Amino acid sequence: MEKALENLLQKLKKHNPSADLDPVIKAFEFSKAKHEGQFRVSGEPFFSHPVAVANILADMALDVSSIAAALLHDVVEDTDVTEAEIAAEFGETVELLVSGVTKLGKIPYTSNEDQQIENLRKMFLAMANDVRVIVIKLADRLHNLRTLKSMPEPKQREKARETLEVFAPLAHRLGMSKIKMELEDLSLKYIDPIGYYEIVDKISQKQGEREKNIADMISLLNSRLETLGIEAHVEGRAKHFYSIYRKMFIQNKTIDEIYDLFAVRVIVNTDADCYAVLGMVHELFKPIPGRFKDYIAMPKPNMYQSLHSSVIGPNGVPFEIQIRTWAMHNTAENGIAAHWKYKEGKVGKSDLDSKLEWIKQLLEIQKDLTNAEDFMQTLKIDMFSDEVFVFTPKGDVVSLPAGATPIDFAYAIHSAIGNKMQGAKVNGKIVTLDYKLKNGDIVEINTSNAVHGPNLDWLKIAKTSQARNKINQWLKKENRSENILKGKEQFERELKKALIPVSYMNDTDLFGKILSKYGFAQTEDMFATLGYGGSNATKFLTKFKELCKQDMASKNEISDISPEQFLLKTTSKANQSGVVVDGIDNCLIRISHCCSPVPGDKIIGYVTRGRGVAVHRADCINITNAHFSPEEQMRFINVHWANEVESSFQAMLCITAPDRNSLLADIISVISDLKIPIKSLNARTAKNNLAIVELSIEVKNIENLETAINKLKNIKGVLAVARRRQ
Ligand code: MN
Repeated sequence: MEKALENLLQKLKKHNPSADLDPVIKAFEFSKAKHEGQFRVSGEPFFSHPVAVANILADMALDVSSIAAALLHDVVEDTDVTEAEIAAEFGETVELLVSGVTKLGKIPYTSNEDQQIENLRKMFLAMANDVRVIVIKLADRLHNLRTLKSMPEPKQREKARETLEVFAPLAHRLGMSKIKMELEDLSLKYIDPIGYYEIVDKISQKQGEREKNIADMISLLNSRLETLGIEAHVEGRAKHFYSIYRKMFIQNKTIDEIYDLFAVRVIVNTDADCYAVLGMVHELFKPIPGRFKDYIAMPKPNMYQSLHSSVIGPNGVPFEIQIRTWAMHNTAENGIAAHWKYKEGKVGKSDLDSKLEWIKQLLEIQKDLTNAEDFMQTLKIDMFSDEVFVFTPKGDVVSLPAGATPIDFAYAIHSAIGNKMQGAKVNGKIVTLDYKLKNGDIVEINTSNAVHGPNLDWLKIAKTSQARNKINQWLKKENRSENILKGKEQFERELKKALIPVSYMNDTDLFGKILSKYGFAQTEDMFATLGYGGSNATKFLTKFKELCKQDMASKNEISDISPEQFLLKTTSKANQSGVVVDGIDNCLIRISHCCSPVPGDKIIGYVTRGRGVAVHRADCINITNAHFSPEEQMRFINVHWANEVESSFQAMLCITAPDRNSLLADIISVISDLKIPIKSLNARTAKNNLAIVELSIEVKNIENLETAINKLKNIKGVLAVARRRQ
C-alpha cells in the first residue's frame, strides 16, 4: 500500500481502532486517479493537497466521512466528476460534505466593509448545513496557506486577508484555536512581512533567555507536582505571532511587556486537579493581581475552559500559566471538531446528535454567562437559520429572512429598484418573482422605466415587512386613478357574487351611512383603497354587503329573485358611447373630440385623471405624435366597439351537483371571476335532490372554455360539467 495512504490510515486507527476504513481507502484511490496529471502552482502533483487536508483532519480525529470528503473535496470543482457520482460511490453523507465544501469555495470575497465581512462569515455558517463542511474548508484553507509561497504576491496578500477576515474568525467561533492561530500567523507573514519578521527576530534574540526560563519553570512545577502526587503534563506554550503582533503594533506594547512570551500549560486529568495545581502555583509564585481567570466555572462562549493566571516566575520574570484537563485541552485546540472525535469502544453518535449536543452545550453555558458575547446569538441563528444570505451582482451580501423572494431583495436594495422591477435573474437565469432565494444566490434585478410598478400580487409574495410597506405606499400614492377603477370593478364583482344588485352602489344613503365610519372622506377614496387591497376598504365592503342584504330582506327581494332576473339586474347596460373597455364594464367613457371616432374605427382608450376613459382613434394625431412619459404610457388601455364581435362563441354547459345553498352563487362567482359574460342561466332540481344547472356563456376560445369548465368542476359538490352544442 502507498505510504501516504498508510500514514493516513495509521492516524485514523490510532483514534478509532474499530473504524471501517474502506471509504477512506476508496476515496484515496478515486481522488488520486481523478487528479492524475494535475499539478499545483508549486509543481507538486495536485493530489498532494487533498491528502494533506485529510491529514490535518485525521490529526484532529475527525470521522471517516470527513476524511473521505477531504480527499474528494476538490474532485467536483477540478475534475469531470459530478456530485451524483460522489453520491453513488461514497454515499449521501460524503456527497453532502463534498458539495458543501465546493459551494463554500464559490463565495466571492470582495468587500472591505466590516458589515459585509460579518455577513460573509454568517453566510458561511448558514450555507454549511453540516459543521464538518466548515471544518474541512478550514483545513483546506490551512494547507493552502501553508503552501502559499509558490503563489504570486498579489494572490498571497488576497488569500491572507481573506483568511484573517473570514476564516480565522470562523475558526475562533468554532473554538478551533489551533487552526485559528496557525491561520493568523501564516496570514500575518504575507500581509505584513516586515512586522512579522521583526517579531520573529526579537523573539529569537531572546530565544536563549526564554528557553532557559521556561525550562526552569517546567522543572520546578514538575517536581512540585510529583510531591503532591498529581499526574500532569507540563509544556511550554506555542508562540502566537499574530497575538504578539497585535499587542506590539496595536496596543503599542514593547516585547518585554508581553507576558505570553513566557507561558506554560499544565494539563491534568480532573477538574479538581486543576484547582489543586492552581493553589500550588500561587503558593510557589507571587500571583500578579487582576490576572486570574476561572474559565472552568465560567467557560468562554466558544466553550473554551481553563484556569488562567500570571505569576512572577523563577528569575523575576512574569509568567502566564494555563491549567486544564485533557478534555478541555482537546476542546480548546479543536473546538467543535473535537465533537466528532471517536470515543473508543463506543458507537459514535449520529452527526445530528453531535451537532445538537454542541448547540445544547453552548446554550447551557450561555445561561450562566453574564457577559456573553454576541457569538452565541449569531452561532445559534446561523446554524438553524431564519436568514438567507444572497449577493448583489457586485458581490455585496444582502441578508433577508428565509423564504424571501426577488421582490424582497429589490426593496432591500432601494424602493426605486423595487418599484421599477421588471424581472429578476438568479445566478444568471431568469426566475419568477416568487422564487425562494437560497444562500449564495447572486440576484440581479431588471428594472425598466416602462414598468407599471408593484401590484397587489406582490404583496402576497413579499416576505419582508419592509417590501410590503413600500409596495403599499406605492400603491396608495402612485396609482390612485387606476386603483379607483379597479376598486370599483372589484366592488361590483363582490356584490354580484353576493347576489346583490349593483344598483345598490348608487344608494348614497347606504353608502354615506358608513363611509366616514371606515375613515373615508369620499367614495373614491374607498374605491382607491380597495383597489390596492387596503383592509379597511375590505371591511367596508363586508359591512356594506351586510346592509344591502338587510335591505333586500326587508324588501323581500332575496326569496323571489330568479337567476334570470338577477342577471338582468346586474348586467351593466350597454354604455351609451357604444365602447367597451376591456376588463371593466362600468366606467365613465368619453368620446374624444379631437378625432371623434365612429364605430368601425380602430380606437384606443386613455385613463384620464378622474374623468374616466377618453376614447381616441388609434391614429389620432394627439396620440401618435405626442410624447408620453412611462407613467402616462401605462394609462393606455384596450377598448373596442360594443358591437364589434371579437371571435367569441357561445357554449352551453350543463352542471350537475347535489342541490345546496349558494350553489348558483358559487357558479356565478367562478364565471364572473373569469370575466366571462353569462348569456343565460337555468336551474332545476331533478330526482335524488340533484340540481341541473344549464349555463350559456360567451367565451373567446376553447382554452377560455376549458378553464371555465375546470373551475366549475372544482366547485364544492359538482359532479359533472358537460358541454353541449346548441
Ligand atoms: Mn482544496
